[in-house]
Amino acid sequence: MTDIKNMTMDELKNYMKELGESPFRAKQIFEWIYRGAGQFEEMTNLSKALREKLAERAYISGAEIEQKWVSRDSTVKYLMRFADGELAECVVMFYSYGVSMCISTQVGCNMGCRFCASTQGGKVRDLTAAEMISQIMTAEKDIGQRISHIVLMGMGEPLDNYEEVIKFLRIVNHESGLHISYRHITLSTCGLVPKINALAEEGIPLTLSISLHAPNDEIRSKLMPVNRKYGVKEVIAASDRYFERTSRRVSFEYAMAAGINDSVACARELAALLAGKPVHVNLIPVNPIEQGEFQKSNGKTLEIFAEELKNREINVTIRKRTGGDIDASCGQLRKRRRETERAE
Ligand code: SF4
Repeated sequence: MTDIKNMTMDELKNYMKELGESPFRAKQIFEWIYRGAGQFEEMTNLSKALREKLAERAYISGAEIEQKWVSRDSTVKYLMRFADGELAECVVMFYSYGVSMCISTQVGCNMGCRFCASTQGGKVRDLTAAEMISQIMTAEKDIGQRISHIVLMGMGEPLDNYEEVIKFLRIVNHESGLHISYRHITLSTCGLVPKINALAEEGIPLTLSISLHAPNDEIRSKLMPVNRKYGVKEVIAASDRYFERTSRRVSFEYAMAAGINDSVACARELAALLAGKPVHVNLIPVNPIEQGEFQKSNGKTLEIFAEELKNREINVTIRKRTGGDIDASCGQLRKRRRETERAE
């Protein structure tokens, strides 16, 4: 059986041809899927014969809410379950400019960042494009509002699931799909240089956000094993190329861990690394995880660090953590649920 939701418009047109149908049917089916149809029989402008043919060969996948938490600041965190029972986390945040959703792209992660709960059991599997879309559609149904902005920053490294993520982006952007502008989409990566270079050639002008977290290889390799493969200078060069190809300013995430990467010397080294580049730095206190070895930097340290960058003309924002009272960073909700299931 084929998951018809995991097809771009072009793939669906080809599928219609294979079934001996007019490619025009693809547009009708696509529109039904993104209006929320879960069964072919709901697609009343298709002939009964075609609906039956589709039901014999294909299905429309979805995601169910396994657990849900609502924070005092109205942030909603979900644990969603897919058809095979695997779980992924996602978060909805309400802003003055719209509703933003952070989705997962893999179950678990292989990248091994030392401050991250998502990677503690390794990668279980990649999510399909349809499963990424289902996180959004299930949340939209639950909150009764449209998601206007997407952040690929939940569980998983998006560029380690490259083909499905590109397919996801093309479907959510399509005018008959969720029709979300690429400019409202942010993709976060730990810095897989060859994939950043490939993404720059796709003609998808999204915002690239690179997790840097350190101004040099010595500190970054301690925090992020991926740095042993793609060092700080290579990552910065890839971000320069990304800007050249897309004209999109790159963001750098910098999680501040007390006594590790939050000194004035680190701020000055970071400023020197980024001097004159059209980039933005987001500072955020690292989220301490269970069995993690890092503590978050205090507010004063963040301010001093930001001031050092500003004084050297680097654009910088200190970001708040939303949904803090839910007390679960990415990867912890799934981990706890799995531990509970094992105990039951
Ligand atoms: S921070 Fe992102 S890339 Fe690093 S281990 Fe966690 S999910 Fe993977």
